[in-house]
Amino acid sequence: MRLNIITIGDELLYGQTIDTNSAWMAQELNANGWEVYEKIAVGDSKKNIIETLTKSLVNVDVVLITGGLGPTSDDLTMPVLAEYFNSKIIFNEDVLNDISKMLIPRGIAINENNRKQAYVPEKCIPIRNKLGTAPGLWFSIDGKIVVSMPGVPHEMRGMMNDFVLPRLAEINENEIIIHKFILTLGIPEAILAEKIEPWEKNIPLKLNLAYLPSPGMVKLRLTAKGKNKNELTELINKQVALLKPIINEYIFGYDNDTLSSVIGMLLKKHNLKLSVAESCTGGYLSHLITEIPGSSIYYEGGIVSYSNAIKVKTLGVNPLHLTNYGAVSQQVVEDMALGANATFNTDFSVATSGIAGPEGGSKEKPVGTVWIAVAYKSEVISEKFNFGNNRERNIIRASNMALMLLRKEIITKFE
Ligand code: ATP
Repeated sequence: MRLNIITIGDELLYGQTIDTNSAWMAQELNANGWEVYEKIAVGDSKKNIIETLTKSLVNVDVVLITGGLGPTSDDLTMPVLAEYFNSKIIFNEDVLNDISKMLIPRGIAINENNRKQAYVPEKCIPIRNKLGTAPGLWFSIDGKIVVSMPGVPHEMRGMMNDFVLPRLAEINENEIIIHKFILTLGIPEAILAEKIEPWEKNIPLKLNLAYLPSPGMVKLRLTAKGKNKNELTELINKQVALLKPIINEYIFGYDNDTLSSVIGMLLKKHNLKLSVAESCTGGYLSHLITEIPGSSIYYEGGIVSYSNAIKVKTLGVNPLHLTNYGAVSQQVVEDMALGANATFNTDFSVATSGIAGPEGGSKEKPVGTVWIAVAYKSEVISEKFNFGNNRERNIIRASNMALMLLRKEIITKFE
């Protein structure tokens, strides 16, 4: 079964708000067997909302809408849907009760705008909003379903989980879609494609393969659609088992694994401790490591040593190395990694020192030059990279590369 998602709001078209709602919804819907036919963003305009809804309902029977549901004058969705479905707008006692239950315990008096939110189209079922004041609207008219939810992401998610997904599940007779992600590292997309071509040619027609590249890594996604979950899972697992020996050295994880989560598992497995010493990545590397729940088991801490003085004082970097080779150098980054292991008493440490840009480059060391070192106790290895001239990308790519090198070193030493 397929459906459309319409996101409403001028801010989406101005690019001021990134539309995360439809991405989350599409993932959830997919996992529940729904195919998203189109995702469309429209501004706060009655004409555009009606036009988009009308066009959508030619192709699909279900449309999910987010945004523009609040009580202010720029929130048009509710009156527009009432007009579209030729419905009166009536006062709903239950909705007002819900709003009161939400506001009164917080000491907020109900104002005229809140009371306005208790007026909903007669022809819809109001959907409770446990996390905000605007109720959702579920219209089921002439074989078409149109659902309107608030734009605020956590309110929309609450409604989807509590009401919309369970109701939709009743409609699509348990059709399911299963995805399996195979995560690869250190092999460019084109070479990967060449390597797995014989395998790819023989995957069953029921399965679909996609290549999803991002800096330094390529995700392979296998998708199966059908009704029998066990059968689909078995079909996918069989193909993964055939693929694995072909690219085993490049696979670092599956599904929701990340480089940091995989590193975390390796460190835990071998009872190892980690620290970091960052310069150009400014704490981002540490952030990636601590994003993983339970990272405190293996991560001791990190030092963001931006200035030369701090590099010397907190990490014991040799001042002569700074004078002779500069902060962005093999000697300094290796001192930093060794210094972190000594300071934090850890087994592994990883250090970054580079020129993130846009200023600060030279002929010998252009913007994007980054040295990364990984130390195991008092042994250290390092490598130089150039990640180009975009500051944000430099920080991200340097951090990812630091994790890649760290993973490689742990595996070389312990697996
Ligand atoms: P309410 O009035 O109850 O807050 P609403 O339906 O009127 O809800 P909007 O005014 O459209 O919601 O948006 C509220 C906030 O939700 C926006 O400021 C924006 O930050 C966020 N938002 C809206 N649409 C999206 C979207 N598609 N993806 C991510 N965030 C969104």
